[in-house]
Amino acid sequence: MIKPVRSGADLHMHSFYSDGSLPPRKVMEACAAQGLEIASLTDHDTVEGLREAEEAAGDLGIEFVPGCEISVDWHGQDLHLLGYFLDAQAAALTGYLRAMEGMRRERVGKVVERLRGLGVEVTMESVLSHAKAAASVGRPHVAQALVANGFVSSYHEAFARYLGDRAPAFVPKETASLPEVLAVVRGAGGCAVLAHPGIYDLTEVVPEMERLGLAGLEVHHPSHSPEQIRSLLDLAEQKDWVATGGSDFHGIDGNDTPVGSHRVSREVVEELKRRTPR
Ligand code: AMP
Ligand code: FE
Ligand code: FE
Ligand code: ZN
Repeated sequence: MIKPVRSGADLHMHSFYSDGSLPPRKVMEACAAQGLEIASLTDHDTVEGLREAEEAAGDLGIEFVPGCEISVDWHGQDLHLLGYFLDAQAAALTGYLRAMEGMRRERVGKVVERLRGLGVEVTMESVLSHAKAAASVGRPHVAQALVANGFVSSYHEAFARYLGDRAPAFVPKETASLPEVLAVVRGAGGCAVLAHPGIYDLTEVVPEMERLGLAGLEVHHPSHSPEQIRSLLDLAEQKDWVATGGSDFHGIDGNDTPVGSHRVSREVVEELKRRTPR
């Protein structure tokens, strides 16, 4: 039998260690089924799934890039930074993520209080039961609890009525600033990429990123239109940032973008590696 050739890298995926629905091994199996050559796992604010993902990738003949999607406080806005080639054991990173875990839990407690104040009698236990690993609990788990308990009829209704950025039960996360998070990523031997830049107002973000030093820009992402991809490619070239990409797979429902739907070449990963300090 002729073995199909593997090609491309998906550098943005989530497992149930944050808000995805699958264990890391299942995510890597999906990568193998989609014929990916290289894959990264980039859970929100946790590296707990990396070891399992790396082992599974090894078993499946996939090259693995350790990653993490870290929330940053950008003047009150939630900005996502992707760290790659991180040493998951580095004290700078583990200490920071442990603090994030506590912050996320407290914040979700406040969201639950708000909901109860609005007459929605959801419990913290119910919310935590939807966070399979509980390392990175957040609004997606609250939304799942609201659906499971019949308070709303869909995940999206949960955000529209209660949890969205302008909805009544919204509580902001307390995260670190861009320079602080970049220091954490570098302290763990990693490089930083700005996640899904198409959703941000880049007028002030870009000069700050130039000043602080960024390795790459996530050009290929399901939220970007073809026009945005073209202008982001231009921006990456102009600033000498590596144009990365990935599916942002969560696996939550049938509407999710599949693994490997947005991929980049091996050269992109190699260039990113060259720009990683360690
Ligand atoms: P958190 O980190 O707890 O603030 O949750 C952020 C996550 O919630 C995002 O990564 C999305 O997966 C999800 N999310 C945020 N806003 C919405 C929305 N309006 N509709 C559906 N999902 C959303
Ligand atoms: Fe997410
Ligand atoms: Fe994100
Ligand atoms: Zn993501």
